[in-house]
Amino acid sequence: MESAIKQKPAFLPDPLAPVCKMLQACIQCGTCTASCVNSFAMDQTPRRLWRMVIMGQKDEVFRSKTFALCSSCYYCTLRCPRGLPLTEAMAALKQIAAKEKIASCKSGTLFYTSFLESVRCHGRVSEMEFMTHYFIRMKNPVAPFKYTSLGMRLLSKGKIAIPLTKKKKGPGSLKALFRKVAELEQLS
Ligand code: SF4
Ligand code: SF4
Repeated sequence: MESAIKQKPAFLPDPLAPVCKMLQACIQCGTCTASCVNSFAMDQTPRRLWRMVIMGQKDEVFRSKTFALCSSCYYCTLRCPRGLPLTEAMAALKQIAAKEKIASCKSGTLFYTSFLESVRCHGRVSEMEFMTHYFIRMKNPVAPFKYTSLGMRLLSKGKIAIPLTKKKKGPGSLKALFRKVAELEQLS
């Protein structure tokens, strides 16, 4: 008779292994941290995050918000004395968090999903629609209130537009482009 308890596979691949491989030559010099434009807001500096990845500290890595705050400016990648693909490593951590559905990263993952969905449909981000979809996906009725004051400030400065009153022009749907990239990613 089949056991009611589901057996875990004996061997599960370490999701951090490919990222660790990218960082093996890190000498912990801290140039990436000193170069990062967003390090002031990060709970772990990029240098410390790389150390945690190399040490295989998966829980600590995914408890951190550091990789979610990376804005892919490539400055650390340009300045790393070992020529390491640091922006790619940050992106890889975002992808692992989404793929593995890591609970502590849920908010960041839903934020990126909503952002990309808006860009895919309009060729640019439509702020109101993007944030509305984000709040719906969060299934947290109080979440919008946390952003009220920021939203009002951005609205007063014309940084976001209310649909119907002001439509910003974008290049149109990028669905075909997104489809092609997905195809290429499956091939690689
Ligand atoms: S700049 Fe490069 S070598 Fe230096 S700590 Fe950062 S990843 Fe490591
Ligand atoms: S690519 Fe990301 S981690 Fe590197 S400097 Fe820019 S924001 Fe910081």
